[in-house]
Amino acid sequence: MNTIKALIFDLDGVLVSTEHNHFLAWKRIADTLNIPFNENENELLKGLSREKSLETLLSLDNRQVSASEFEELLRVKNEAYLNSVAHLSPQDCLPGVTELIDAAKKANLKLAVGSASRNAKLILQRIELDSIMDTIVDGHAVKKTKPDPEVFLRAAKNLQLSPAECLVFEDAESGVQAALDGGFMVIGVGNPSLKNRVSRYIPSLHNFNINEYEILG
Ligand SMILES: [Mg+2]
Repeated sequence: MNTIKALIFDLDGVLVSTEHNHFLAWKRIADTLNIPFNENENELLKGLSREKSLETLLSLDNRQVSASEFEELLRVKNEAYLNSVAHLSPQDCLPGVTELIDAAKKANLKLAVGSASRNAKLILQRIELDSIMDTIVDGHAVKKTKPDPEVFLRAAKNLQLSPAECLVFEDAESGVQAALDGGFMVIGVGNPSLKNRVSRYIPSLHNFNINEYEILG
């Protein structure tokens, strides 16, 4: 039985899904640029930072833009996304989130979010999970994005724990890589393509039972 002291959650695709909001915002950018873009292309953007996502989108059509256009496209994308997530509420938490967080709190586990998103705090406020987290490490707090382990290492450091004492929940390849490279145990969530990358895979947090782990308070 593994011993854990904290749970560290990726945000998007694990606690809440704003993937469709991202998709629609990127689709709008792609349409403006006349770059063909559908759900398949959108898969390539998942887990990437805003800048890396735009680079990837532009590379779909070998497109180059000036630095100022690049910045403007990022701004327009984020504005469209923020407008669309303004109406998120606690009901938008993914299945099993509320139950797992309640159980973890009762067990005195520390809780953290490690997300590439610079909107992580805002989204956590909307779904009312901001105040329950012991630390939130978002895209503002790190220099390197996933697959670099910095975001998770910083979360562990803020909790004053070693990576081996934390269990990471991730739905993206880059995030799983970040967690593994950082020395964390990682559980793949809601993305079947992760099955051969992780020792444990669950379709949603609803399928996770904290009692399978030994908890050190
Ligand atoms: Mg994610």
